[in-house]
Amino acid sequence: MMQKRIAIFGSTGSIGTQALEVIAANPSLFTAEVLTAQSNDDLLIKQALQFNPNIVVIGDETRYQKVKDALAKTDTKVFAGEKALEEVAAMDCYDLMLAGIVGFAGLKPTLQAVEQGKPVALANKETLVVAGDIVMQKAIEKRVPIIPVDSEHSAIFQCLVGENLNPIDKIILTASGGPFLGKKPNFLVNVKRDHALQHPNWSMGAKITIDSATLMNKGLEMIEAKWLFNLKPDQVQVLVHPQSIIHSMVQFEDGSIKAQMGLPDMKLPIQYALAFPQRLANKFPRYDFRRPNTLNFEEPDIKTFRNLALATEALHKGGNLPCVLNAANEIAVFAFLRNRVGFLDMTDVIERTMEKVAFIGQPTLEEYFESDAEAREFAATLIHL
Ligand code: NAD
Ligand code: MG
Repeated sequence: MMQKRIAIFGSTGSIGTQALEVIAANPSLFTAEVLTAQSNDDLLIKQALQFNPNIVVIGDETRYQKVKDALAKTDTKVFAGEKALEEVAAMDCYDLMLAGIVGFAGLKPTLQAVEQGKPVALANKETLVVAGDIVMQKAIEKRVPIIPVDSEHSAIFQCLVGENLNPIDKIILTASGGPFLGKKPNFLVNVKRDHALQHPNWSMGAKITIDSATLMNKGLEMIEAKWLFNLKPDQVQVLVHPQSIIHSMVQFEDGSIKAQMGLPDMKLPIQYALAFPQRLANKFPRYDFRRPNTLNFEEPDIKTFRNLALATEALHKGGNLPCVLNAANEIAVFAFLRNRVGFLDMTDVIERTMEKVAFIGQPTLEEYFESDAEAREFAATLIHL
C-alpha cells in the first residue's frame, strides 16, 4: 500500500485522537497531513508537534495567534475559522479525509472533499442525516468512495465485501441500549447529564454519548444507513444487543445473515476505513467465545425512548425532516449538557420543531441550510437558551 496522507477533521475529538493512534502505529502506511480542532488549542498544538502535519486549522479564530506562535518553529501552516475548514478540504494536499467533526459543522468540509474527488472515511453521521441525497449523489458523480467509520455501518460495509450486486433484504443495526436500557419515563425524567454521560460499552464525545442514552444515535444511524447502502426505510431494522459484540448484520435475499463481530473498540473501524481494502494486523484485545458469555437481543422500547420513533418518522418521510430533526436534537443536547433542559424535554423540543418547520420534499443544499437554521432558531426559543 502506498503511504496515504490523511486529513483528520476533528483531530482532537474521540474519533480524531483514536485515528492518530492508528496512524502512529502504522507510520509507513499513513501520515497526518491535516489536523483540525474547534477550540482545544493545547491538544491541537501537541498533536502538531508530534505528527508534523502540513496544515492545522483552529476553528475558533481567537485562538489563532496562540497556535501560530506555538508552531512558529515548524513547517506547519496554521489557518483559522470556519471558512478555512472548507478551503483546506478543497486543497490537493491529502489522499483521504477522516470526517471526525461532530454535528452539522462537519457537512461543508466533507462535501468539499467529495467535490474534490477525495475519498472520505466518514464518522460524522450528521452529514448524511442532513443532506444524504446530495452527498451520495455527488460521491457517485465524482466516483468517490465514502467508507463508513461508524461501527454499525463499518460492520455492514464489511459484510457486503464480496457480495457485488447481491440485493440486501434488510440490515439489522444493533444498539447497546445505552446506560438507561430497561428504564421507564418515571426514572428518565430525573436523569442528569453526568449520569447520561456514562456509556456502558463505548467512550465517546459528549454529544454522541447523550444521543446513545436517548437512542437518537440509533435513529441517526438508520438514516445514515439508508443513504450509505441505498436502502428503503423498511429495510432498516434496529435490535438492542447490550453487549455490543455483534456490530450489525445484513440479511440477503436467500435469508442468509452475515454479522461482523468483535470487542467494542472504535480503532478497528477507524483503521479498516483508513486502510481499506486492506486489513492491518494489530494488538487490540480480541473477543474470545470460550470465555463465559451471553449475547442478548431485544426490541427497542420506542414508547420510552421516543427519539427513536421521531427519527424513524423522519427516515420514512424524508425531505428536510431528518435535517430538522438533527438541528433540533443538536440544540436540545447542547442545552441538556448545560443542565438547561431535562432528559425527556429533549424529545419534546425535537417533536415540536419537526411540527413547526415547513416540510420540503426535495430540498436543495441551500434549503437544507435554511431548514437547519430555522429549526435551530425555533428549538432555541423552546428552551430559552
Ligand atoms: P468529539 O466531541 O469527541 O470531537 C469532535 C471534534 O470535532 C473535535 O475535534 C472538535 O474540535 C471538532 N468540532 C466540534 N465542533 C466543531 C465545529 N463547530 N466546527 C469544527 N470542528 C468542530 O466527537 P466524537 O465522539 O469524536 O464524534 C465525532 C463524530 O463521529 C460524530 O459525528 C459522531 O457521531 C461520530 N461517531 C463517533 C463515535 C465515537 O466513538 N466517538 C462513534 C461513531 C460515530
Ligand atoms: Mg454507531
